[in-house]
Amino acid sequence: MSRENLEAKAEKTLRDTDTFRVPVAIDLVAQRLNLTMEAGALGEDVSGMLIIRGERGAIGYNSGHARVRQRFTISHEIAHFLLHAKQGGKPQLFIDRYVAFRRDASSSAGVDRDEVEANQLGAALLMPKKLVQQEIRNNELNLDDEDAISMLAKRFQVSSAAMTNRLTNLGILR
Ligand SMILES: [Zn+2]
Repeated sequence: MSRENLEAKAEKTLRDTDTFRVPVAIDLVAQRLNLTMEAGALGEDVSGMLIIRGERGAIGYNSGHARVRQRFTISHEIAHFLLHAKQGGKPQLFIDRYVAFRRDASSSAGVDRDEVEANQLGAALLMPKKLVQQEIRNNELNLDDEDAISMLAKRFQVSSAAMTNRLTNLGILR
């Protein structure tokens, strides 16, 4: 799916679930998509997982991770559900290890593409383009100032690194 379509899909998903506001209530998005959620001790390098059976999905996320990281994980798993659930297929399992977020020579191109796509939609759900632009405008933020980025990150309840990535991908930050 193209980047523009992913942005549109993120906004539509949030509007359909009545969650298009800052900070995005990502737990509520999952709930309104009929996804169940559970925090668990998954081991240090596992961020989260998604199990899909028929129409239903369950998200597991690492209880030991910081809340901003848990939000990122939940959003990523929601993105897998929206993008990669196969209709009427066999049960599917996605497991997201920390290493899954970087390119790995041993992983197949197909898996890589799914992960890249889930990361993009996940980021767009947590930091919707229009809401990010709106916050920058309303608060007259100067993004040359690192404090402005950390303030923006706090508003959206994401890490500063995630916000910096997002601003770069949106072409707002050079
Ligand atoms: Zn993934």
